[in-house]
Amino acid sequence: MAAPLSSQSPVESDAGLNTPLFQRVAVIGLGLIGGSLAAAIRQQQLAVEVVAYDREADDLRAGVALGVIDTAESSVAAAVQGADLVVVAVPVRATEAVLAEIRPALSHQAILTDVGSTKASFVAAVEAVFGQLGPRVIPGHPIAGSEKSGVHAANPELFANHKVILTPAEGVDGASFERLKSLWEGCGARVLAMSVGYHDEVLAATSHLPHLIAFSLVDTLAGEDQNMDIFRYAAGGFRDFTRIAASDPVMWHDIFLSNRDAVLRVIDHFSRDLDQLRDAIEHQDGAMLLRVFSRAKAAREHFTKMLSGQAYVTDMNQKQVTFRMQPGGSMNGDIRVPGDKSISHRSIMLGALADGVTEVRGFLEGEDSLATLQAFRDMGVTIEGPDNGHVRIHGVGIDGLQAPRGPLYLGNSGTAMRLFAGLLAAQPFDTELTGDESLSRRPMGRVADPLRAMGAVIDTAEGGRPPLKIHGSQALTGIHYEMPVASAQVKSCLLLAGLYAEGATSVTEPAPTRDHTERMLEGFGYHVHRKGATSSVSGGGRLTASEIDVPADISSAAFFLVAASIAPESDLTLRHVGMNPTRVGVINILRLMGASIEVLNEREIGGEPVADLRVRSATLRGIDIPEDQVPLAIDEFPVLFVAAACAEGETVLRGAEELRVKESDRIQVMADGLTALGVESTVTADGIVIPGGQRLGGGTVDSHGDHRIAMSFAVASLRAEGEIVVNDCANVATSFPGFVELARETGIQIAAEGE
Ligand code: NAP
Repeated sequence: MAAPLSSQSPVESDAGLNTPLFQRVAVIGLGLIGGSLAAAIRQQQLAVEVVAYDREADDLRAGVALGVIDTAESSVAAAVQGADLVVVAVPVRATEAVLAEIRPALSHQAILTDVGSTKASFVAAVEAVFGQLGPRVIPGHPIAGSEKSGVHAANPELFANHKVILTPAEGVDGASFERLKSLWEGCGARVLAMSVGYHDEVLAATSHLPHLIAFSLVDTLAGEDQNMDIFRYAAGGFRDFTRIAASDPVMWHDIFLSNRDAVLRVIDHFSRDLDQLRDAIEHQDGAMLLRVFSRAKAAREHFTKMLSGQAYVTDMNQKQVTFRMQPGGSMNGDIRVPGDKSISHRSIMLGALADGVTEVRGFLEGEDSLATLQAFRDMGVTIEGPDNGHVRIHGVGIDGLQAPRGPLYLGNSGTAMRLFAGLLAAQPFDTELTGDESLSRRPMGRVADPLRAMGAVIDTAEGGRPPLKIHGSQALTGIHYEMPVASAQVKSCLLLAGLYAEGATSVTEPAPTRDHTERMLEGFGYHVHRKGATSSVSGGGRLTASEIDVPADISSAAFFLVAASIAPESDLTLRHVGMNPTRVGVINILRLMGASIEVLNEREIGGEPVADLRVRSATLRGIDIPEDQVPLAIDEFPVLFVAAACAEGETVLRGAEELRVKESDRIQVMADGLTALGVESTVTADGIVIPGGQRLGGGTVDSHGDHRIAMSFAVASLRAEGEIVVNDCANVATSFPGFVELARETGIQIAAEGE
């Protein structure tokens, strides 16, 4: 080509938005990627001038005509001359030859980068041509593409909202790196930095292997006798493979030859796993198939959550949900509220460690228990479901857990993290326990310290906070532990560690706490010695699979107990409610207030007492709440305040400081909400005084994102005289899935907006 061509039709640009980062960008190889980058740079005015060289003069002419570049140059050297950024955008296998042409013309100040799909090969080519990797050589790889190739497919939007990986060496010039990063960001991309080796490993697994499988599968099936039919009847799955297999053969041939070692490693790994699946099918090993399939099915959600550092169902929290209730109504029906959270957690843990298959029904499909479930899948346990509260756990036995491939992510669940710490302290493998942002702020020293006294080796982050790094293969010895603060989580953690310890492990609590772990261990046939405030277990036993019908959560039932009590003409039955003596404060208190609650059909399931409750409307009276009932009803006070407002006479609560440090300051937030409805109350340091017999008006209440506050005011609407609106209710879905539907079905005139 004699004279350089110049662009006659510049791409439309947001004039003046960007100060040019570069004077002259030279793109070598004007195909899909080189052309798209050139077009994006021009469109965003990130350089004063974009020039290109391609071995096809037609492509260069097209580049100018399409406005992709400013100027076409007739040789590599001419393009590179005077450029402060040179982008190599040729097929990977052509890189070394192109670099040899670049070298004589390249300024010392220029940045040299590429877009190739493999990075070790680019580094090797640079070293072969230049002798070493200079500080301004920065390999790059945009994770964006198209089935089409060539400059005609160039698209300035190609990189918008896509990732670009840069793989700078240690001695990289920082300013050059930042400039190149800004260029890609200016094209709309998100830039990540990683090492060359890591890039090639990751891409081998996530991109190269899937392409290889697609090429191979489509080729194999195309060679079958009935190949026409295979393509004619191709179902969705196979069609996806054919789409991938339609990628550019030359480019992929390059990639596999250039990333040989990493690709071979991942092919070998995959072939072994595929052989195992083949064997499982041959030998009718359904358990193996289920294990792999259920782990794979859950993987996408799991890793998405892990990457975003968010808990399992918090997507709901992103949305603003408002409850709007019309006043009045009565409560009738026969219902079962969702399962107890503490018991849901423990059912998965013990089911996983038991011999045999444990069937769980009534499992709470909330964020915390789902995190526990996933963690056991990660440790090789096959778990089917949850499907409408039904979970089937194929127990692996007390010593059957396998090392997880990465950290165990426990979402927002403090219970899970503390219980896991005990359970994993003596496993023959190391584990790391992580959680979301809020869990990462919670102290774990109160479990790590006594576990260390048993012989566990656990590292925590600063201040005893997560992540917890548990070093496996430790021989634990039973201890006696006097808990300084009453905590069911610490007690459970130590008892679970005690299953693996030499001798007896015993825990004495200063005040009674929930005893779901002790009861469920008994339910799985593991003896727990209980005397007074002390529980102990001896290590070395086994757990036997069980059937668990998770009791309905009494904390969730509480809203309906109060609702049916305060609404006229109500008659409501709540089925299968957990009646653990450490949890029944709400029933005791409501009965003292004159509520009509019949306890029917009392029975024991999996070590836990359950009963059906029939509640009818009653005239409630205000009471001095006995202080010994406070810890037994601590989560139920918000809705009990609503009962108090509807009662005749004054209700006084004392000794409930803990309410101020729950998900919200539940005393103040409830008092503010009641005020919004025209109900007076007096807040005290450790409680509240609510004069009864008050009229509830309508109004707008802020729940402060506290699910129990939101549900309490939904209940209040039954006795209100106007519409009640409660803001910030999205969290209800995580603690009480289906609350709105159940409330509506039984008589509350509620609508949720924004779901
Ligand atoms: P493309 O559309 O085929 O473009 C490559 C261009 O380079 C073609 O115009 C080609 O000319 C030219 N070229 C080949 N050898 C050359 C040489 N020795 N001197 C000068 N020009 C030469 O391919 P692409 O998709 O843009 O791929 C370019 C690079 O980007 C590759 O390294 C690829 O690994 C990487 N990449 C591709 C994708 C994707 O999805 N396509 C995604 C990320 C990264 P001819 O037309 O004469 O062959």
